Amino acid sequence: MKHATFKKLFTALICAAVAVTCCVPAQTVAKSYKLSVQGLYTDSAAVKGTATRGTVVKVKLGSVQYQAKTRRGGGFTVKIPRQKAGTKVQVNLYKGKQRVKKKTLKVYPAQVEYRDGFSYHKITSAVKKRIEGKSYKKNKHINLDQLRYVRVKHYDFDGTIKAGELIVNRKIAQDMVEIFYELYQNKYPLQEVSLIDEYGADDGRSMKANNTSAFNYRKIAGTKTLSRHAYGMAIDINPRINPYVAGNFIDPKNGSVYAQRDVKKCRGAHKKWMIHKNDFIYQLFIEHGFEWGGDWKRIKDYQHFEKN
Ligand SMILES: [Zn+2]
Repeated sequence: MKHATFKKLFTALICAAVAVTCCVPAQTVAKSYKLSVQGLYTDSAAVKGTATRGTVVKVKLGSVQYQAKTRRGGGFTVKIPRQKAGTKVQVNLYKGKQRVKKKTLKVYPAQVEYRDGFSYHKITSAVKKRIEGKSYKKNKHINLDQLRYVRVKHYDFDGTIKAGELIVNRKIAQDMVEIFYELYQNKYPLQEVSLIDEYGADDGRSMKANNTSAFNYRKIAGTKTLSRHAYGMAIDINPRINPYVAGNFIDPKNGSVYAQRDVKKCRGAHKKWMIHKNDFIYQLFIEHGFEWGGDWKRIKDYQHFEKN
């Protein structure tokens, strides 16, 4: 009898210990494990990334589970079949039998040909060379995986058709080809659509040239806050004729004549193409979920559209 009591007590103690261990909040466990996964595209044949050593990465697709151990340096490669754009892929990190972390990734298109002359694709090494150290600087907020190189066609103010290029966040790459295609169809003039890197990633120089551009890893002028341009989520259209106006401050300076937004009073040569609330280009961006800097109350950034 004595022995049985001891056994019961012992079992109870073990159970209590197990219970305490199991009751550690999931978050505490998760915090101590690292899982970083690279972007997934329609041309990806593997889920790659880094995780805490000694763990196993499992990816379940349909009824099949794919898995791989993390290597010595923490890297892992789980081979998977190619997935369609928009597919959600859950990546699970296991330590023994316990799942310690999970991440859900969306599969993005590696390349999209929207219309002839309107397409976008991942940042290639050739594009990377052009932007590294200029509009792109290594940082914690945005990586090259999240950006897209966009090709468009547009008319300029002389009615000439030009090739344009943009870098934007992958979240708005499709919006860009659709919007620029509409602008093109309607012969909406844009002086130039070049990467800001052609101007040394200098916003001032690009605006002065009336260049339409999007991505630039920079802060909002005069602040410590990252601009939406730093995420590739904002675009500046014909900045010279749609300047940034804050009281008496006008940027670019050579766009001062366009601080007068009343077409009847403005004396700029391209006043017809200043962006106004509810006009064609305004509607186009708003329909795609963007907001316009000209709608802001305290300052007016007439060239600026951004998406949140
Ligand atoms: Zn802007």
